[in-house]
Amino acid sequence: MYDVIIIGAGPGGIFSAYEFSQKRPDLKVAVFEMGNPLEKRKCPIDGKKVKSCIRCKSCDIMSGFGGAGAFSDGKYNITNDFGGTLHEYIGKDQALELMQYVDRINVENGGENTHLYSTAGSEFKKICIQNKLNLLDASVRHLGTDINYIVLENIYKKLSANPNIEFFFNTPVKSIEVIENGYRIHYGDGFSDCKKCIVSVGRSGSKWMETVCDDLDIHTKSNRVDLGVRVELPSVIFSHLTDKLYESKIVYRTKKFEDRVRTFCMNPNGIVVNENTNGIVTVNGHSFEGEDKKTENTNFALLVAKHFSEPFEDSNGYGESIAMLSNMLGGGVIVQRFGDLERGRRTNKKRLEESTVRPTLQATPGDLSLVLPKRILDGIIEMIYALDKIAPGTANNDTLLYGVEVKFYNMEVDLDENLETKYKGLYVIGDGSGVTHSLSHASASGVYVARDIMEKLSER
Ligand SMILES: Cc1cc2nc3c(=O)[nH]c(=O)nc-3n(C[C@H](O)[C@H](O)[C@H](O)COP(=O)(O)OP(=O)(O)OC[C@H]3O[C@@H](n4cnc5c(N)ncnc54)[C@H](O)[C@@H]3O)c2cc1C
Repeated sequence: MYDVIIIGAGPGGIFSAYEFSQKRPDLKVAVFEMGNPLEKRKCPIDGKKVKSCIRCKSCDIMSGFGGAGAFSDGKYNITNDFGGTLHEYIGKDQALELMQYVDRINVENGGENTHLYSTAGSEFKKICIQNKLNLLDASVRHLGTDINYIVLENIYKKLSANPNIEFFFNTPVKSIEVIENGYRIHYGDGFSDCKKCIVSVGRSGSKWMETVCDDLDIHTKSNRVDLGVRVELPSVIFSHLTDKLYESKIVYRTKKFEDRVRTFCMNPNGIVVNENTNGIVTVNGHSFEGEDKKTENTNFALLVAKHFSEPFEDSNGYGESIAMLSNMLGGGVIVQRFGDLERGRRTNKKRLEESTVRPTLQATPGDLSLVLPKRILDGIIEMIYALDKIAPGTANNDTLLYGVEVKFYNMEVDLDENLETKYKGLYVIGDGSGVTHSLSHASASGVYVARDIMEKLSER
């Protein structure tokens, strides 16, 4: 009988385990993870033999120690303005305190020389408003993909030095059973029992999470889906913003539909990458802190949120269908020059080769207007012109648009203010709960729940 079983070793699960190891190292904790240990995580795409996603059974970008965050850009946004709705459950002050606490742990474990950027007092707020754009408030710690990896390595070393914390990699959990005084976790041919269970399965565990909620009759609510493109352009175009803020979250309201288009996941001097969610290939991006790995391009996403409720409520299914359409037409991600999109013509190999912006991801040149709905595409084009006013050059012909970028949000699991389901001692945290969708919120939710469990275990 373990005191606690954690399912999923992404930031949510890791920060729960870390909190136990620091405050109650005597607790017996098991972490079940369907992916590989950190050092064995390797996406087969090498740009030579394997050029695009081959749809591995378990995706090393999304799964394994570190979760979807392991090879991410390691941008820890400390804010309640975006990245999740944790504050709605635990209050704004506590959510921010926990995000700051997570930041200190990252800094102590290898992130000490990284930058903490902030929008506070930024002159860009005014410039944005003058151009019908809204710059959201945040502090952001940019670890970078390289330092993020080191931080994870250091955290893993500390966790595995504690004999009471056991890791089971390559062990997908099949089901959760409610037993007397706890939970039984089934995997492979075996099972383990625990007093308290933390489910932290992220986006890659979204389908599995649905089955758990169905089996245990836990109420869920559909969430939104964000659809759009990843923009790649010469880094100088955005350098006045990225040098000061690193990541700027800017929102624009479209003229016709009043849809909100927002920038997301900005990667100065970064690279564009494939992402595989449940076999569907979409686009993402990251960047490195080390000078030697920097590229001459900056990339960021432009996303429009869609939330379906009635009679159709499968927002994720809608996003998946659009992503599948791009996979069908392009065999994966499609890339198009902004100038070609504007002229209503496809980008072909020749036009792409002539582009002054060198793509950092090998994608299929094509036509995004055959994939994205008009309303979304019109919004993105409007936003590109709005951004062109604060960062002239954004609307250049050679600006590259990769599609599609989709942010799938897990359905919202019915949880109380402790992030506990209707079953006492069964917690759902991180992106798998639908409550968070970022490194900082997911990690903070892990700390929060660990503290709640420690308090309850000590009450006995
Ligand atoms: C390429 C990329 C870049 C990103 N960049 C950023 C960024 O810069 N900043 C930011 O804030 N966010 C970023 N994100 C999002 C961020 O990574 C996630 O919000 C965060 O990782 C969520 O943490 P989590 O612990 O909830 O879930 P995850 O990190 O998804 O971890 C869940 C873990 O659970 C495991 N799992 C799933 N199902 C099971 C099962 N049945 N049994 C056992 N294990 C299971 C998975 O293998 C996975 O390792 C990025 C995501 C990607 C893919």
